[in-house]
Order: sequence, then C-alpha cells, then structure tokens
Amino acid sequence: MSLAAYACDPARTRGRRHAETPAPTRTEYQRDRDRIVHSTAFRRLVYKTQVFLNHEGDLFRTRLTHSIEVAQLARSIARPLGLNEDLVEAIALAHDLGHTPFGHAGQDALNACMAAHGGFEHNLQSLRVVDALEERYPAFDGLNLCFETREGILKHCSRVNAQQLDEREPGGVGRRFLERTQPSVEAQLCNLADEIAYNAHDIDDGVRSGLITLEQVAQVPLFGRHCGEAQAEHPHLQGRRLLYEAIRRMLSAMVYDAIATTRERLQGAQPRDADHARALPPLVSFSDAARADAAALKNFLFHNLYRHPRVTETTDQAQEVVRELFACYVQRPGEMQAGFAARHDLQRAVADYIAGMTDRYALREHERLTGRRLLGASA
Ligand code: MG
Repeated sequence: MSLAAYACDPARTRGRRHAETPAPTRTEYQRDRDRIVHSTAFRRLVYKTQVFLNHEGDLFRTRLTHSIEVAQLARSIARPLGLNEDLVEAIALAHDLGHTPFGHAGQDALNACMAAHGGFEHNLQSLRVVDALEERYPAFDGLNLCFETREGILKHCSRVNAQQLDEREPGGVGRRFLERTQPSVEAQLCNLADEIAYNAHDIDDGVRSGLITLEQVAQVPLFGRHCGEAQAEHPHLQGRRLLYEAIRRMLSAMVYDAIATTRERLQGAQPRDADHARALPPLVSFSDAARADAAALKNFLFHNLYRHPRVTETTDQAQEVVRELFACYVQRPGEMQAGFAARHDLQRAVADYIAGMTDRYALREHERLTGRRLLGASA
C-alpha cells in the first residue's frame, strides 16, 4: 500500500494506552481491525436495528451489514487518495459498536434515563466499548486500540464530555473537540462513507419494505437522474434490477465525486503530514452540487421512511422496553450479569449493560423481568 504524506502511517502511530510489543507480520492498524472483528460487541451488531427492527425481516440492513458496507465504501475512496485502508476499515467496522438496541429510539430512551447521571451518547459509547467494556486481555480492559482508531471512532462529542475525556487522558481523543480541529483524513472519510452507505441502502430497504416506492424515490433528483439513465440504456429494465442498477450508479457517482473533490482539496492544501491535515479545515468532502443532492435525498428519507408511521409506531414500545429495563436493573442490580451488578457506578453500569444488548435479548429480558411481551416478537 503506498501512502500519501498526509495519510496516517502505522509506524508513526501515537500509540496505545498500554504499551505492547509490535506484531511480527501485521501493522498496528491491521491489528486494530482484527481486534474489532473478533470483539463481542462486533458480533452483537448483527442483531441490532439499523432502521428496521431486527425481527421485521431477514434481508434488511442491520448494524453489522451497515458497518461492512461503510468499510467497503471507505476503502474504495481511501486507496486512490493514498489514505490508509487498514485504518479506515478499522474505524468503519467499529463506528457503530456503541449503538443501543432498537436504533435511535433506544438511544433516546437511554439518554433520558441517564439525564441525571451524565447522559448517554452512542459515539462516546463506541469509545467506551473499545476502551473499557470489552474483556479479552489479561492486563487491561478494552481492546487497547491505537490513538488514530479511537480518534476516528469518536465522531462527535459534546464539550462537557470532551472536557471529562481530556482530564482522564490529557491531549487524547477529546482534545480536538475543545480545540475545534479536525480528525485524521481517514476519520473524516469514514464519516462521509457512513452517509453514502445509509443514503443508498435505506432506499433499498425502504423499497423492499414497501413503505416507499421506486416511483416515489425517483422524484428525488439524485436518484431520479440515475434511474432515468439506467432506463435509457436498458429500456426493459424494471423492478428490483432497475432499483439496484440505479443505486449502483448513484453509489459510484457519490464515490467518484468524493474522490475528485477531496483530491482537489488535498492538492490545494498540500498537507505535509497527518498532523498538518488535522490542523486544516475539513479535507474530505462532496462537491457543492453533490452535497445538495445528498441533502435532498436525506430529507426525502427522513420524511418518508424514518418518520413513516410503521417505523415510528415501534418507537414508543422500544422506548418502553429500555425505560422499564433500566428501572428494573437499578432496583435489582442482581438481575444483571455479575460483573455489571458488582460495579459501584450503578446507573452507568445499567446503561452499559442495556446498550450492549441486541434487540432480541432486550425483548427477552424485558419479558422475563416484567412478564409483558412488547413489539410482538417471539423472543
Ligand atoms: Mg453508521
């Protein structure tokens, strides 16, 4: 892999919190990616909601397949730009590890439960998973990942949380939110790849679910254009193959736009190294036209899919499950696994415990503790 000057170089990593001897054949970022793939939290992503609750169908994206698609897109963009593919893969595969069961409904409910105890935020939780909650090594908690991987995982952070992080780890991953600087180019890329991925796969899942139609999405300029071009080239194309051909063309266009725009910015800014790139304004970007296209698509999906009554009608029940689980465990910590029950920070332990659950485990636990079965899933 030939790396550009501004790419993160594993030989010059800011290192791990606990010193380790180098691996004989793998770079530090390859090791990070491998640790993430072998983690328990990574396997749980397969049963966590992306948009559709996990039990609603076998073919919808889950957090796991979403993360794999983000990694694929991020690597496709990283290579032609001379960025570090191993690092973007590690960040992409880990970026959603802190998500609660039931998607954003679960996170909102848990955040409300934790209002008086520091709140709950899924980006910070992803960092907690890799820093503290995974139990795999004899000498330390967490996966002991490199600074650059952890920096990319912490995509957003409030000022209050950043201050706390910076007190515990001076000059660490919280610092950039206080100094208002950018993360590495690889981390910036993963954010954009995340957006490209969900804009595309949510069209697919949305149409598959029957909640939106191909004709409806074709009203959105970005998708309509690619759908029209696909039909012009293949006049008999229809249904699922037309949907996939249009999504494929749209994905390619967004990827190529991101590569061309970012390349132009990199050539203009001439970052000397990864730290210089961090000090510059954002370098990874769509063009203005593609940004407007993506925003219009996002807006369409928000109003027609994410806010569709069939999606939101599950929200109330999902939040009830999380709220009642939280109340039960705070009252009876012994109902949690021993390691969580023994912790002194009771509310945070309960939040960590619930956040780690898959959708179906949360429903099973809820039924066990309350005798009520919500969301109609046979657990
Ligand atoms: Mg994501």
